[in-house]
Amino acid sequence: MTDGAAPTPSSRVRLREALGGVPAYVAGRPAAVLEGVTAYKMSSNENPYPPLPSVLEVVREHAGQMNRYPDMGVAALTEALAARLDVPAARIATGPGSVGVLSQIITALCDPGDEVVFAWRSFEAYPILVALSGATAVRVPLTSEARHDLDAMAAAVTERTKVVLVCTPNNPTGPSVRTNELEAFLDAVPDDVLVVLDEAYLEFVSSADAPDALAVHRARPNVAVLRTFSKAYGLAGLRVGYAVAHEPVAEALRKAAIPFGVSSLAQVAAIASLEAFDELDVRVKQLVAERARVVAELEKQGWDLPETDANFVWFPVGERTGELAAACQEVGLTVRPYGTDGVRATIAEPEANDRLLEVTGSFPRD
Ligand SMILES: *Cc1c(COP(=O)(O)O)cnc(C)c1O
Repeated sequence: MTDGAAPTPSSRVRLREALGGVPAYVAGRPAAVLEGVTAYKMSSNENPYPPLPSVLEVVREHAGQMNRYPDMGVAALTEALAARLDVPAARIATGPGSVGVLSQIITALCDPGDEVVFAWRSFEAYPILVALSGATAVRVPLTSEARHDLDAMAAAVTERTKVVLVCTPNNPTGPSVRTNELEAFLDAVPDDVLVVLDEAYLEFVSSADAPDALAVHRARPNVAVLRTFSKAYGLAGLRVGYAVAHEPVAEALRKAAIPFGVSSLAQVAAIASLEAFDELDVRVKQLVAERARVVAELEKQGWDLPETDANFVWFPVGERTGELAAACQEVGLTVRPYGTDGVRATIAEPEANDRLLEVTGSFPRD
């Protein structure tokens, strides 16, 4: 065979039409490399702290058994979560990241042509997973304060709606939904529509009127809560998340899971992280304090930004999104630009945050 001599015949394999409507996931870029400057990645809402020694230790211990399959039922982690959250184990479904669990939700609930309602902008994975399933994404614009417009979302529900995704706090803009508006919304949504409260940033929430999602779940059979070990728990690279849903839904999510999707290392690291929560919580509190410092400085600089309950801040700079992202990049900070909507910057190491404040302080505003 002569390398590359014959032209490859074009593929006639029949791919699904739905793929044509799947947007590409734009991941946060890696930190920039600049001569003599420590670069910081502030583009993926990761926890800047390295893993806890106790968590790293169990991962090392179990790494020697990676020739074995993980526990497919994820029994020990499910039990640990059930005990911590005080819910029956039957209500828990795990998956490879909460994105994995969300994929299970869509697979379990949506046929082609069904509708999934969510706010926009919101988490980038939503339109991808919905389009992949062949269902239709119904995007409801955020309010001028970058909040969910829950009245408009309730009004967008039709007979075809199977799922509504409520991202609280909202990625990438930051506000949580408020308890009273969520209750009114849930009263308006038919009880055969699953409402998913995506709480990826729960641990960073400090608004007094943010909902207690588990209590809402307990009171309403059509409400599920989606959570992850990727952000506050610092396990983004291991891929593990879970949903709390009422039994028939949780069982369907377990059925829709890819077999052995949650690795052994992810399972043991998640259990060890639950056990070390007090230690992790010290770091979470430091990040929340750091967020307060950054937000206060930004206000002093004259920025009028949406309230943030998460580990990031949102700059709604519109047409100047590329410009702000480039100004950050020039000083070794990688942030996340979103088209012509704005820039999201993750709260990172204090030095990174200080540098961000230098950029925002001298960024010309109209
Ligand atoms: C980061 C994030 C997730 C978590 O994704 P994993 O798959 O668990 O890493 C889920 N929802 C939102 C809104 C997020 O920002």
